[in-house]
Amino acid sequence: MDKHMNYGSDYKYIPATSIGSGLGIEVLPDLYSYTIQIVNIHLIGDPTTNEFVLVDAGMPNSAAEIISVVEERFGANSHPKAIILTHGHFDHVGAIIELVNRWNVPVYAHELELPFLTGKTSYPEPDSTVEGGMIAKISPMFPNEPVNLGNNVKPLPSDGSVPNLPEFKWIHTPGHSPGHVSFFREKDRALIVGDAFVTVKQEYLYKVITQEQEISGPPRYLTIDWQAAQESVNTLWKLKPTTAVTGHGLPMTGALLSESLTKLVENFDEIAKPDYGKYVN
Ligand SMILES: [Zn+2]
Ligand SMILES: [Zn+2]
Repeated sequence: MDKHMNYGSDYKYIPATSIGSGLGIEVLPDLYSYTIQIVNIHLIGDPTTNEFVLVDAGMPNSAAEIISVVEERFGANSHPKAIILTHGHFDHVGAIIELVNRWNVPVYAHELELPFLTGKTSYPEPDSTVEGGMIAKISPMFPNEPVNLGNNVKPLPSDGSVPNLPEFKWIHTPGHSPGHVSFFREKDRALIVGDAFVTVKQEYLYKVITQEQEISGPPRYLTIDWQAAQESVNTLWKLKPTTAVTGHGLPMTGALLSESLTKLVENFDEIAKPDYGKYVN
């Protein structure tokens, strides 16, 4: 494999945390979600086997923590078959180079996200002027330059299948980023959302720290296309998920999930879309 990988020049540790940091939750017997500071990673696979994948790759400087979470659940020296990305924002690829170097596994992402994962295109600057709280205000410190994974990153198959996850399909859910994807398993209606919607008001420091559960649209300071973001939420609502794990916030299930998601669909402008900000309209 090509070892020539690098983070963007603005890559750095971000001193933000929540009471959920370091907390792992077995949401389903083969779905484990773990919080790195303010973002979630997910391990999909039966812990009695060695067949599993990692979805998303945490915050900058979190590789050692992710490796220990993986080894605690799947055994010493275990590693996933692949790393699959919902999208390439810094808080979802923060440890990816160290993980690829250690595990020698492929990374998969949507074709439209590849420019942001191969060092070609920076994400737009986070919007500190967007309506929202303290996290939005400090968002300009967040890295937006692309990681370069070289040929270690590959496009997801165009037929909707997910490598190493035969029961899941990927669903294009753009708006928060151009190649954002979610993953859905029909048999138990499990949904890995990414940031297409989240279960915490991610713009507000107090709510991030306390992880108060409340459905919300995608994190505002990084969302660039609100029309597409709304359509993506509608797409996910139509799947009628019964379990949802998101990039930020606690897992949501059952009636709370269906009621919250319906509320979000019916009141997208009020709940999700900021009243002002440079990527609104
Ligand atoms: Zn994001
Ligand atoms: Zn995120």
